[in-house]
Amino acid sequence: PEVGTLVLEVENARKEFGGLVAVNDISFKLKAGEIMGLIGPNGAGKSTTFNLITGVLPVTKGRVEFLGNRLDKLPSREIAKLGVGRTFQHVQLLPTMTVLENVAIGAHLRREVGVVSATLHTDRRSEAELLHEAAKQLQRVGLGDYLYEQAGNLALGQQRILEIARALAADPVLLLLDEPAAGLRYKEKQELAKVLDQLRQEGMSILLVEHDMDFVMNLTDHLVVMDFGTKIAEGLPSEVQTNPAVLEAYLGG
Ligand code: ADP
Ligand code: MG
Repeated sequence: PEVGTLVLEVENARKEFGGLVAVNDISFKLKAGEIMGLIGPNGAGKSTTFNLITGVLPVTKGRVEFLGNRLDKLPSREIAKLGVGRTFQHVQLLPTMTVLENVAIGAHLRREVGVVSATLHTDRRSEAELLHEAAKQLQRVGLGDYLYEQAGNLALGQQRILEIARALAADPVLLLLDEPAAGLRYKEKQELAKVLDQLRQEGMSILLVEHDMDFVMNLTDHLVVMDFGTKIAEGLPSEVQTNPAVLEAYLGG
């Protein structure tokens, strides 16, 4: 989609776990070519919102739309096929396989072929294509020198970028990242920010769930802040940063 067009619309999304309202009627929009940050203290409901968008959890109420498709009625594999790529809060790699294989298998699974055929029955030509595509995505994110390294040997920051490459191999329109900077050193955060900034310049739309305010401040175009399931602020990072409700939420009131 063209930069500036509406990609994702979350409207009054709600998630209750028993008596707990984890996501309290949240609404926001994300446009093509934008990095939107969804931030808030621990327990604010960020990951749950993420799971509502990706179909990991059903909404209690509300609507999620992606390029005119209702996501909240779809299973996660269908959502992925429509062009929503994601990474997980905790790294999910095959540590003893190579960096290249991790991306190739991820891409292959997205093509709905299944784990067994992914590892056993792939014909040589499509395997070559997958590896070629995987290498291309790894070069795109700056991991071109590590193709034959075991994934488990990479530094955490590189593993996070590897997961992004794996998501990119499925050719998503929208990339959802859940706390990609968590646990990274300062230098690694800078590397990651560079990759995300480059993807944005290539027209990618990114929803970044993040606890770390500093990381999102210079990187995002638009911020939504959650606290106790509720949206407490929204706007430019510079505006949000000085919002009293946000400061209070982050300082623990
Ligand atoms: P965040 O990602 O912002 O730290 P979460 O979305 O993980 O927050 O959690 C929001 C709230 O919902 C928390 O109080 C958490 O304990 C609760 N929660 C999350 N997932 C579940 C679940 N599967 N069952 C019950 N409660 C949950
Ligand atoms: Mg979380």
